[in-house]
Amino acid sequence: MATADGLGAQKIHENTDRPDLYGGPNVVIPPVYLMASLPDRNLSSAKMSNQHIEEEVVSSASEEESPQVDTPSSTPPIVTSDDFALAFDIDGVFIKGGEPIPEALEAMKYINGGNPYGIKVPYIFLTNGGGKSEEERCGDLSRQLECDVDPGQFICGHTPMREMAEHYGTVLVVGGEGEKCRIVAEGYGFKDVITPGDIIKTKQDATPFRKLTDEEYKNSRTLDLEKARIEAIFVFADSRDWAGDQQIILDVLMTKEGKLNTRSETFDEGPPVYFSHNDVLWATSHEHSRIGMGALRASLEALYKAVTGGKELKTVAFGKPQMTTFAFATKLLQEWRSKSCGINKPPATVYFFGDTPESDVRGTNEFNKSSEIEWYSVLVATGVWQEGTIPKYPPRKICKNIYEAVKFAIDREAQKLRGRGGSFSMFSDDVKQVQLKK
Ligand SMILES: [Mg+2]
Repeated sequence: MATADGLGAQKIHENTDRPDLYGGPNVVIPPVYLMASLPDRNLSSAKMSNQHIEEEVVSSASEEESPQVDTPSSTPPIVTSDDFALAFDIDGVFIKGGEPIPEALEAMKYINGGNPYGIKVPYIFLTNGGGKSEEERCGDLSRQLECDVDPGQFICGHTPMREMAEHYGTVLVVGGEGEKCRIVAEGYGFKDVITPGDIIKTKQDATPFRKLTDEEYKNSRTLDLEKARIEAIFVFADSRDWAGDQQIILDVLMTKEGKLNTRSETFDEGPPVYFSHNDVLWATSHEHSRIGMGALRASLEALYKAVTGGKELKTVAFGKPQMTTFAFATKLLQEWRSKSCGINKPPATVYFFGDTPESDVRGTNEFNKSSEIEWYSVLVATGVWQEGTIPKYPPRKICKNIYEAVKFAIDREAQKLRGRGGSFSMFSDDVKQVQLKK
């Protein structure tokens, strides 16, 4: 369980009703710049009914109407809102199949001041994806979304694993393309990183049907099997070869304390295994969602039981919907608002936008119960969740796409201000006056 000392996360505690959300590993929230459950298969195809949406402020009709703009038609000065913030999933929300979805660029412009209120809203990204360094992924995202994305506003699935580097000496790192995840792990500070390729190069019959390519063979390292002892297994990113990787992971799990040339007789002496997230499905360019790391986790647990005569394998997943990940995000947002905007107070509300009810909505709703900050779940229909089906975990708001979603959030905040006799434009005038007095 994380030491959740971030704003809004103070009240997090062990919850026996939802142990899968609260029973994660000990993760210490790192400094800002260091940052990057199986779904229910019985989703009904019945039409979404309104009782599943606990929408509070804006009626469904108002979503379709033009916002009540509280600024004059002339271009207002761009100011930064300090009362609310935004947090975004990426895949299925902004990006699909490696390309931005049609409304993505419009949404980014909107939250960066291109809106009728003339405000900018601070935001972070919180994705379960991974397989690249935070810096590399932010570079990709900056190009895709045509705006600067800083590693200080980015968390990916394996970012929290950085804090485990000091706890383990030799680790097996699985997943991703080529050597990328080994490089990421070494960048996190892991001292001795072994990959499945190293084991296959050293003992070529470890995976009867998988042969290393010339490049893989060149990059892989030969191990001393008498000495190698793996202390933990980390699945950083999606496996590119399930059969080979599962064979290697199973072999290590069935050792005595991770010593590669041993085999346990009781099958309860192996090292721990950590997954960077547990999403079974994710949205790609294919018309149907594709299986992901959560599926590998389920498969591995079933395989372990089968090959060990019934032993249960206990694995640990990071990422959404884990409460530690949302506490991590709260802290990151606090630091990002301070660093980028000079805002040193917590927001009253954080809107979280995602496409997967089982991770995005579930985590947001659950975190909101114990957070001093309101975490408000918004589900978009451009990814895993399909319109016309009932989400297993109901969001506070459903929107067609991310552009509609960010418009909704900003309009809702404008309405809240109006309810208190204020407006964004008044805030803008204040800023103008302050600037004039200088
Ligand atoms: Mg997603």
